Amino acid sequence: MPRPTGKVWVSLKIIMLGPPGSGKGTQAAMLKEQLGVPAISTGAILRSEIAAGTDIGLKADGYISRGELVPDDVIIDIVERRFLQPDCQKGFILDGFPRTTAQAEALDAKGVKIDAVVVLNLDDEVIVKRMSGRRICKKCDASFHVEKNPPKAEGICDFCGGALYTRVDDAPETVRNRLDTYHKNTEPLLDYYKNLLRNVESYGNIDDVLKSILAALGV
Ligand code: ADP
Ligand code: ZN
Repeated sequence: MPRPTGKVWVSLKIIMLGPPGSGKGTQAAMLKEQLGVPAISTGAILRSEIAAGTDIGLKADGYISRGELVPDDVIIDIVERRFLQPDCQKGFILDGFPRTTAQAEALDAKGVKIDAVVVLNLDDEVIVKRMSGRRICKKCDASFHVEKNPPKAEGICDFCGGALYTRVDDAPETVRNRLDTYHKNTEPLLDYYKNLLRNVESYGNIDDVLKSILAALGV
């Protein structure tokens, strides 16, 4: 792991891995503040492309609502373009990418050297229950939970005042599909990245999980 010089990281490249609903997005958003590197969520980028009705959005919509993966070439293209933004110079936290071996190989092919892979562990049954309470901000994609992480005002995002909604792919049947997809396509990455893994249990409250992640990263 690189060390911070003062408060500035030379470069810190982290992958958040774990099943859908394990808290990757929530923790990535908090880690971003702690570590001062951007969080890149392929899911959030795809949702904003869908909302804007772009070609990418039109391509991705069906896959997402069925709980399937969007094709690798579409995703790799999105990430490559995001990496060109100047804020990625300091490093980044990848949330929801890579999700397949082909995506991990594409990162390697670009010469991106990952420092650590944080794995958030949570049982499938807990996840299915949690997802029905999840609410997402239409404007900034921040994630809330009606019981575990309620917004200050019901139905309104704490960060930007946007309206909260329930994602179509958070319906229980679709969550089960997403979990199957995770076990089949994404879990092999645990072996791919076996030398970089930092395992964290994701059962506790959000602040405790964040503490465990920071401890696992040694920061
Ligand atoms: P979660 O982690 O809760 O599943 P995300 O917002 O990361 O939610 O992803 C939502 C959906 O977007 C996925 O189910 C998938 O259809 C699509 N998606 C996001 N990232 C990728 C990726 N790297 N590869 C393929 N599909 C992706
Ligand atoms: Zn918001």
